[in-house]
Amino acid sequence: MNLFHRKVIEDPTHEECGLGSETVLHVLCQCTKAREVWTHCNLSHTIEGQGEFTDILWRSGMNPNNGSNLLDIILMIAWCIWKNKNEVRHGGRKHTAAEMFETAIRLLDEYNAAQEVPVQHREDQPA
Ligand SMILES: [Zn+2]
Repeated sequence: MNLFHRKVIEDPTHEECGLGSETVLHVLCQCTKAREVWTHCNLSHTIEGQGEFTDILWRSGMNPNNGSNLLDIILMIAWCIWKNKNEVRHGGRKHTAAEMFETAIRLLDEYNAAQEVPVQHREDQPA
């Protein structure tokens, strides 16, 4: 949709499905391909409801019944959907829902590992 507003593309219709305008909400949540991914991840219930994608994130992050990493995994899956959409646009291969979920989990593990503060042992400290 932004590309349409910026006059980069002439038609706001999502090329991949031809069924909706290429908004963030459509591409990440409403499009057939996106729905496949969320269903595969057992997270389709999290992307239901009114509002924009940011509203979905807000609801997911603020619900005390949700696990603390739900928002992280939703964001990582969304990023994988968006990234693959752009890869396909530039001639890349369309990933399956399972591949996108695996990639999201792997990237989230790598991110979390990078956040861990290395344990400094007493003998490593300068005297
Ligand atoms: Zn679509």
